[in-house]
Amino acid sequence: MGYRVDYDKMNDILATWSEAYHVYAPALDQRKKNVRYREIKTVDQIVLDRQADFSPKEAYYPVSQTMFYFTDTEVTESELADDKGIIVIARPCDINGMARLDCIFMENGGHADYFYARLREKVKVVMLECRESFEHCFCVSMGTNKTDQYDAALRITENEVLVDIKDETLGAAFASASACDFTPEYVQENQKKLHIPQITDRSMLKPISDLEYWTQYDEKCMSCGGCNTVCGTCSCFDTVDVIYQEGSRSGERRRVWSSCMLESYTMTAGGNRARKTPGANMRFKVLHKFYDFADRFAKDGAHGIACDAQMCVGCGRCDMRCPKQISFFDAVDGLAAEIEKMNAGEEA
Ligand code: SF4
Ligand code: SF4
Repeated sequence: MGYRVDYDKMNDILATWSEAYHVYAPALDQRKKNVRYREIKTVDQIVLDRQADFSPKEAYYPVSQTMFYFTDTEVTESELADDKGIIVIARPCDINGMARLDCIFMENGGHADYFYARLREKVKVVMLECRESFEHCFCVSMGTNKTDQYDAALRITENEVLVDIKDETLGAAFASASACDFTPEYVQENQKKLHIPQITDRSMLKPISDLEYWTQYDEKCMSCGGCNTVCGTCSCFDTVDVIYQEGSRSGERRRVWSSCMLESYTMTAGGNRARKTPGANMRFKVLHKFYDFADRFAKDGAHGIACDAQMCVGCGRCDMRCPKQISFFDAVDGLAAEIEKMNAGEEA
């Protein structure tokens, strides 16, 4: 069902939604520097003319989350701050990114991750129509420029909002709004077009891992992990016990985002590291996003993900974020060329 509302009416609807939901959308941060997912009250807070610097995952997979509290004798599960639901207003690539995180947290090993599920199940997805590509986007190459996995969709113009409602709970707020025909449209082309590495067999992984290609990142990458932090599909976390006072046995266990690009990520007791260089970390990240995920999860169309889907959704945020101007797009595109060279060498 489609509706047309002016900004005042949309603000009233946001206020109604806010009674039952935390409404997150891409908005300027307090320093008015970065665009990140924040709770909004009015439609003009939603930033439309630039891409969000951070993904929406913070809304349902927080940077730091207390799992339980403990004393010498008791463990108490953490509780959510309130009973409200969560509305996430996001572009199609990020909604496709949510589906990938859902696979990782809900399907891994046949068990749903409790702490992820208890927030994720509260989420209603409102798609922010995205018809014009930004500089770093390659969503069309990844097939993530479109989605029908939303509860409502918005087209925000200079003075009005067109809305497509699928979910009746969200639609109730539009009871007195004018009906109209509205079908969301999508980006059709990006400036960047990715050659997806064709890894057709596991036996290719060893020669790919051994490529000299990866060493270019040993000098360039400073292992800051910023690229993982902004990625809507990166899921890695660490668990940390926070002890309240020295000598005390009371505290809490938190899980906090981690990053496969950190030097310490694979470090085990005794100081050994499975991956010892930034190049090895980049190799892991590229293959994780462009082989492992599809091999493990994208087989049965779960969560609306196509069978050949990769983990990366082509948002290009990691390229925007990197302080060393390292391009993940180039890393993946370059690997596709390396594989073509390998294959040509075998045929010769
Ligand atoms: S482009 Fe970068 S940030 Fe975006 S999904 Fe792919 S790896 Fe993650
Ligand atoms: S943001 Fe750039 S420098 Fe930092 S870990 Fe990622 S690739 Fe390396």
